[in-house]
Amino acid sequence: MSVASCPRCTSTPTAAAGPYRRAAGAERGPVRTALRREQHRVGIEIDRCPTCGGAFLDAGELEAVERGGKAARRQPGAEAALEMFQRSHQLAKRPDDAVEVNEEPPLDCPRCGETMFEREWSTTLVMVDVCLDCRGVWLDAGELESLERMYGA
Ligand SMILES: [Zn+2]
Ligand SMILES: [Zn+2]
Repeated sequence: MSVASCPRCTSTPTAAAGPYRRAAGAERGPVRTALRREQHRVGIEIDRCPTCGGAFLDAGELEAVERGGKAARRQPGAEAALEMFQRSHQLAKRPDDAVEVNEEPPLDCPRCGETMFEREWSTTLVMVDVCLDCRGVWLDAGELESLERMYGA
């Protein structure tokens, strides 16, 4: 199985030039940035893009983050904090931002290459890209961290 690559980032092979090499590079097109395996503290391995900071989680892994956080943190006030976070997130998101997001082309799943669909993760107001084929989830930079903060993972 090949290494999963970032659905957002491409690195065009420039540099080492010379007309021949440039032609070869153009033929192959831009190369997707490879994701790096990263150990997550809830005991799973995720794929992280070193360029944009986005992360790909296989089916069930984001649920593991969610469960890990819920198991670790049971003190009162967590629910209220979550609600407050959601409210501030909602306020921060203006309608014209949402339009811009929707105009982005859909991502290709780093795992299986299928088209991903943007949707809200659970009721967190965090928009993630999910693959309906392998059920993997793509999170842009900061989105995984937002969910971790909410879940206390
Ligand atoms: Zn990337
Ligand atoms: Zn997939």
